[in-house]
Amino acid sequence: MINPVSPSQVRAILKEYQIHCRKSLGQNFLGDANIVRKIIAGARLDPADVVVEIGPGLGALTRELARRARLVLAVEKDETLLPVLKETLAGLENVIVIHEDARKVDFDALVALKTNISSGLPYKLVANLPYSITTPLLTYLLRKKFNFSLLVVMVQKEAANRIKALPGSKDYGLLSITVQFYTVLQGSFPVSRTVFVPQPKVDAAVLCLSRREKPSCYGLKEDLIFILAQEALNQRRKTVLNALANAPQGLNLDKNIWADLLKRAQINPYRRGETLSIEEFSALAKAVWLYLKSQYFID
Ligand code: SAM
Repeated sequence: MINPVSPSQVRAILKEYQIHCRKSLGQNFLGDANIVRKIIAGARLDPADVVVEIGPGLGALTRELARRARLVLAVEKDETLLPVLKETLAGLENVIVIHEDARKVDFDALVALKTNISSGLPYKLVANLPYSITTPLLTYLLRKKFNFSLLVVMVQKEAANRIKALPGSKDYGLLSITVQFYTVLQGSFPVSRTVFVPQPKVDAAVLCLSRREKPSCYGLKEDLIFILAQEALNQRRKTVLNALANAPQGLNLDKNIWADLLKRAQINPYRRGETLSIEEFSALAKAVWLYLKSQYFID
């Protein structure tokens, strides 16, 4: 049985199966048993757990997940890795490999289908993500409100900094707001680039994020919160008032109306957008929503 737990073993597997790592799919494979152990510990697995793994690669994490969980659904886009996974995962009957692009998967429907339990069963998501799709994939997973309880995710160190960033810092942006709106950071640890084959140019970090039962400011028009945040943060050097009043794709409200809405949300219009907290964007979204409702009689 093959077992990708060190860089030399990963290289041997790649050679045996003549796999040429595809940069476009972020194929930097993990070859370090200690990091695998730490990721598994972060997932706090229970024998009853259903786990969805995105991008199993050569199966380094998949094997260990399967040993501790009831069922592992591993979604891999690259067809050429399927024969490797067949061998790495041989003898493990609780793993199903699904050949699919994770960005097209309805994860709740997938879990319901494979467990025969109609929707509602919470599951855990584990992923060593291709760096190039970190932001779109996390946004997809969170904004679609899939029913996972925990997300253990490896991302580029810089992306981890952006995810964790607080208002006012240079890393604070839409990714920070999206992830923090829906999840709470339970823990994180750094991962050196040296544990991957091929070795990437940057270090990584693993984040353990639990889903908020109810996102902060839940029940408000969430889309509006993200639209406002995007507009305010896209033009970081402007005051929030000028950014909103001059947003090219904006809501097209007069500057004096924006000034009034910011006042109602108790936000100083001369602050820069990047200093606004999620709660402040939510308060602004509420003010905007009430205003639009009064103008256009919408629900
Ligand atoms: N989990 C393995 C590990 O830790 O060694 C592989 C991680 S590697 C960084 C990313 C994996 O995601 C690769 O196996 C790649 O083929 C797969 N992948 C890339 N884009 C994907 C997508 N859109 N959907 C599913 N898998 C994808």
